[in-house]
Amino acid sequence: MSATTRVPRGVVAGNWKMHMGPDETRAFLAALSPRQGPGRPQVLLFPPAVSLAAAVAAAPSWVGLGVQNIHWEDKGAFTGEISAPLARAAGATHALIGHSERRHVFGEKDAEVARKSAAALRHGLIPVVCVGETLAERRAGQANPVILRQLDAALEGLTGSGVGFLIAYEPVWAIGTGETATPQDAADAQGVLRGRLRERIGGDADRVSILYGGSVKPDNAAELMAAPNVDGVLVGGASLEALSFTRIVDAAPDR
Ligand code: PEP
Repeated sequence: MSATTRVPRGVVAGNWKMHMGPDETRAFLAALSPRQGPGRPQVLLFPPAVSLAAAVAAAPSWVGLGVQNIHWEDKGAFTGEISAPLARAAGATHALIGHSERRHVFGEKDAEVARKSAAALRHGLIPVVCVGETLAERRAGQANPVILRQLDAALEGLTGSGVGFLIAYEPVWAIGTGETATPQDAADAQGVLRGRLRERIGGDADRVSILYGGSVKPDNAAELMAAPNVDGVLVGGASLEALSFTRIVDAAPDR
């Protein structure tokens, strides 16, 4: 299928990590004011779980809300964890799965990413599965094998879901570092991911949104989102301030 037949949804997502309590969440949503209308990107926010209720109450209808992590079990003795059904009941529509901080700070493995992806889909949460190589892996020429291994593993949990998931390519060396992948780097890696998706799910691959994440700012967002195969962005630090995030949403091309 040629690039011109692709119809991925443009998406601009903000991952607030361990920031933004309920009051800050309400203030952010009151100040968020990107251009709206046909062709404008879907806006997603991933507040900390304790701010989800405030976000659900304050968010305009054009903002989708998600959680930053889920457990793969539906319920049970897992202190501190949140299940997909709990997240859904609290108003989340999406779940970040396998963010690099989950993988590298908390030791999350590919198999867990697959189980979490499956749990999300089982309960009607749309998984946003993150993949990305470390600097050492990139320097060793292992970037593509690593992201393909991560994608293959996640697809074990996503099989049969059609297009009900998103992928975020987030090179670990670019997250929170101020180092941004060039648009060419992002396009190359995301082309590799798209190719593997086509092998695994055929034409549906062309309808999966693949986001880029890693030090996206208002000043580099337009260039990154203009790159081939970059269907949107996942933003950390620059999503914490409404004006900055508004500028990033406004930098997205019409689709
Ligand atoms: C992220 O947390 O997913 C991220 C991309 O962070 P930052 O934009 O701060 O690099």
